[in-house]
Amino acid sequence: MSYKLQILAGDGIGPEIMAEVKKLIGWINETTDTKIETADGLIGGASYDEFGEPLTDETLEVSKACDAVILGSVGGPKWDGVDYNERPEAGLLKLRKELDLFANLRPALVFDALIDASTLKPEIVKGLDILIVRELTGGVYFGEPRGIEDLGNGERRGVNTQVYTTSEINRVACVAFDLARKRSNKVTSCEKANVMESGKLWREDVTALHKAEFSDVELEHMYADNCAMQLLRNPSQFDVIVTDNLFGDILSDEAAMLTGSLGMLPSASLGVEGSSAVYEPVHGSAPDIAGQGVANPLATILSFAMCLRYSLDEQDLAQKIEDGVQKVLTDGLRTPDIMADNCKKISTSEMGDALIEAIK
Ligand code: NAD
Repeated sequence: MSYKLQILAGDGIGPEIMAEVKKLIGWINETTDTKIETADGLIGGASYDEFGEPLTDETLEVSKACDAVILGSVGGPKWDGVDYNERPEAGLLKLRKELDLFANLRPALVFDALIDASTLKPEIVKGLDILIVRELTGGVYFGEPRGIEDLGNGERRGVNTQVYTTSEINRVACVAFDLARKRSNKVTSCEKANVMESGKLWREDVTALHKAEFSDVELEHMYADNCAMQLLRNPSQFDVIVTDNLFGDILSDEAAMLTGSLGMLPSASLGVEGSSAVYEPVHGSAPDIAGQGVANPLATILSFAMCLRYSLDEQDLAQKIEDGVQKVLTDGLRTPDIMADNCKKISTSEMGDALIEAIK
């Protein structure tokens, strides 16, 4: 099979970590029947410096034409003074909006070799494998009316609106149910149906969809505040969690931190069937360590593995990469951010090389 991926390395450590993904793609092209063509593009500060905007329409056209986009990270102090609409982050928002990426997937996976990196007790997080599916284009971050109005007398009023329609709820819930079928077959749907009408609708629509199309999947409903507590008390009870934009923002960060290591966390953002999805690490551009060859490339490499799994349907290759990551960690090879006693400290590019050796 042959595919075309757009590579948007971005700013800061982006180009360094993306170089390791390119090594892997080179290895796949040389040694397997899968052929992956890549198209490099600029996003964020790098694009602003070159074109005066953080994502050009030409780059976006390539994003739309490719099978998927692999993104590094954007931003950094260099662009702090740039106008809000031309800031590096605006490039990311434009990409998400134009590709209509409505489902954000954030796995929280605890590798045995990194179990001590979690702030929770090892027996609580051992073997943890959760997937949070967050609705990304609706809810309170986008709802109208919004704004700050002056009420006079020194009083002001800030307004945001939480709003969801049945079709918005159904499409993200469908993604969650579909993914659960490929995992442990359980979905926990989170909202605040006890105090919010949008939550009540969310619960009713998810229940109806489950009954109509996914009754083979176990479904439970949970209030989002309870979910926040349960993630710390007994995270292993979860398989797939589906929730709205606001609760998903918070719960996915909480779940990610159960694993304890920012440099290890991948993510995917999926749009409607047939359009390109975007795969990127959860971390930012880490300007404090950029250019030093010490960044951990594994979050980006695991994001690439998610791309192989979800966009290219190359399950075996994805599994090989994930197993390879497990092996390098078990062998005690570590970039400085995940360094531990009795392990060997290696650089960004040594990690990429070690991973290819492990996969071989
Ligand atoms: P950050 O994630 O870039 O860095 C936080 C800390 O984690 C830093 O100490 C950094 O060195 C470390 N770190 C991050 N990734 C690492 C890796 N792969 N290996 C080793 N250490 C790593 O967050 P920040 O410092 O708050 O933000 C820096 C810039 O990144 C800002 O401009 C911010 O807007 C941007 N940002 C971009 C994205 C994105 O592109 N999606 C996400 C978050 C932040």
